[in-house]
Amino acid sequence: MDKLTVKEVHAKEETLLANKKPLYTHREIMNLLKEDKFKFNLFGHVDKSYEKEAIKGVKKDILRHLEFNSTYHNSTYHLNYIKELEIAKANGKDCVRNNIETKLGDIDKSIQYHKESIKIFEEMKIRETDSICIGSSEFYCFKCGERMMYALLDENTIGLSPSYSMKKMDIWDCTCKFKDGEKQHSYHITVPTGKLVFVNFFDDRKPYIENDKNRDCYINKDKKEMKIFEPKEKWSEEFNLNTHLGRIGLMNHYSSKHNIAFGQMGDGGIGIYTNKNRDRIVISCAYLANRLTDKDGDKQYLTKIEKFLKEYRKVGQISLEMWRWMAADMSVVEKNKIPVKINKNDYNKDVLLKVKKGKWKVTHKYRTDDCNEDKDIEYSVLELEE
Ligand SMILES: [Zn+2]
Repeated sequence: MDKLTVKEVHAKEETLLANKKPLYTHREIMNLLKEDKFKFNLFGHVDKSYEKEAIKGVKKDILRHLEFNSTYHNSTYHLNYIKELEIAKANGKDCVRNNIETKLGDIDKSIQYHKESIKIFEEMKIRETDSICIGSSEFYCFKCGERMMYALLDENTIGLSPSYSMKKMDIWDCTCKFKDGEKQHSYHITVPTGKLVFVNFFDDRKPYIENDKNRDCYINKDKKEMKIFEPKEKWSEEFNLNTHLGRIGLMNHYSSKHNIAFGQMGDGGIGIYTNKNRDRIVISCAYLANRLTDKDGDKQYLTKIEKFLKEYRKVGQISLEMWRWMAADMSVVEKNKIPVKINKNDYNKDVLLKVKKGKWKVTHKYRTDDCNEDKDIEYSVLELEE
């Protein structure tokens, strides 16, 4: 829900901008951008390793936006009409010519109008913290999922300013929630029966029943089907698979609402490995042992694998049709009548593991700063806590 009304947003904006001095016109900004005169501050929304690339993109994006606004008068259809008129004149087709001349007159009028507005646009002075691009151009963060406007921070720097939806939520600080990087995330599940099932994904589709107790879940648009484990607002930024924020949101949702472990992965497959005590489970590359035969492999990584395989045994593998793994106590599967394939003869079967009963801590590292899949073994870890 919005925290501020439209009126309150405008009032707050006014106070924030009141003492800011006008710096450049749009035209000056375009020229300075072309001459590479600005520094950029993206408030931690982009990792250091990718920052240079990102800034190139941002620069292009802003220039494209500003140029689109100021070169509208070069519309090609106008030029086409002039060409047509010349052809008509040369061929002496009066009737066609008259028609085109009328159209051309209309176009001329609208061109005059656009030229005026272009002039106004190009000569418009931008203040400190004002957004540069009026209209659709914005910056999107793949870590926190926030959308922001490009802004002039001071006479040397281009940065970000809050989007309108942020302002309505009374968020005026543009610093990224994950400015220090994307770290591994931990949560808990309980395993009361000691039987833990690992799958690619739980098939939680059920026919939709009006007045069903489970309605706090995702319901298909046609209201014929629901997915009992999925969040009701599955398309919201809170559960967006493309952002770090969304992936954390999903892990918290599945574990706290349904006692299910969830880890977002990439393409391919995973291997499931346990120690002798069966109180620590590691999700890793499906073919760790095979990697040992790779003579050109990274020595440090191979030593790590060797050491790991002395302590851990592979107990199963899962191919990831959906880019994720999920796991839950057998009671969750049975209570919700979720189909699983744990018989020996099933092709592409799920993995049933007898483990110690109790509370388990799950740590997901894949796609974070804590896991480089070419150097680190542990993609996710499940360990008995009590
Ligand atoms: Zn961010």
